[in-house]
Amino acid sequence: MNDCYYCDERAAIFKALGNSVRLMILSEIAKGNSSLCELVDIIKRDKSTISRHLKILREMNLIEIKSSSNRVEYAISMDCIGNYFLCANDVMDRRIDMKIKLNDIIKKEAKMAEKLPEKFAKWHGIDRTKIPWYPVVDVDKCIGCKLCFVSCGRGVYDFDMEENKAVVAHKYQCLVGCSTCATICPVGAISFPERSMIQKVEKEEKVLVRIQEKAKKKKAEIDMEKVRKEAMDKLSKTKTSVKYEVVGHVFESALMKSIRDAIKDCKVDLVDISVESPSLKGCWDQKAPSLTKFTVVSTEMEDISQCIEKIDKIIKKAGMVLISKE
Ligand code: SF4
Ligand code: SF4
Repeated sequence: MNDCYYCDERAAIFKALGNSVRLMILSEIAKGNSSLCELVDIIKRDKSTISRHLKILREMNLIEIKSSSNRVEYAISMDCIGNYFLCANDVMDRRIDMKIKLNDIIKKEAKMAEKLPEKFAKWHGIDRTKIPWYPVVDVDKCIGCKLCFVSCGRGVYDFDMEENKAVVAHKYQCLVGCSTCATICPVGAISFPERSMIQKVEKEEKVLVRIQEKAKKKKAEIDMEKVRKEAMDKLSKTKTSVKYEVVGHVFESALMKSIRDAIKDCKVDLVDISVESPSLKGCWDQKAPSLTKFTVVSTEMEDISQCIEKIDKIIKKAGMVLISKE
């Protein structure tokens, strides 16, 4: 005797039980309808059919012949056979439960599909759920690398950690025409419908007409952005104030006077002027080099580049050293 022996034996018993007519026969015998005639009458099968099934049940010792005065009657051979029915009922209940749960999931998914986030709800004005463009994962091929799950930027995928498989959780969030995930899947587990399906939708829904207005708007936005960028560039190159730091004989060269004379016609002003002598001696001896700081500012918030050019020349001519200019 070994496990296999039991399995074969059990399989033979379940095979005998695995027939709806034989189950009906067992059920009727258990109720007390135990003769061939009664069974034929109730189960509505001909005599030979019922006899054949009775023979199979007898061979498996599921029923036995009961002695009776002048007719053949059958009886369930062991009470425990009734448990088979109870067990089958439990399994049935469970299956029904699972079916209900499955239906709930399907309904939930359908609801979720209906409640597409606003930004995914339409494709060029067409209800997105009317366009069957979305990925399908072949779970037998999927190796669970998660590349599609991580790469899709529209939240189409979820990932089943227990099964180690990618799951298409929000199919209508897929961008119509995109097939990136199928391209990058290392084992070709993702498929999409034929592209001709999209072309058909484009034709039927007059997508090319619909998008003209959008295209016009987009072009205007691009042009506007270009103009804005150019204006910003120009503005960034425009100088309205420049701060100088120079070292040299500021008094001897009469630098500040020369600058003032040169800019008298420009719309600028000199502000924050300071002269720093490096030593006490320098304070008394005006021939010592000093650090001179001043800022040239536009009085009209205009570009002062031309004025700055003049000042640069004067600084150079005066023999001053330009330390910084910003
Ligand atoms: S990219 Fe392909 S293999 Fe990787 S998880 Fe997605 S479907 Fe599976
Ligand atoms: S095709 Fe593009 S948008 Fe659609 S699921 Fe794949 S990566 Fe996401």
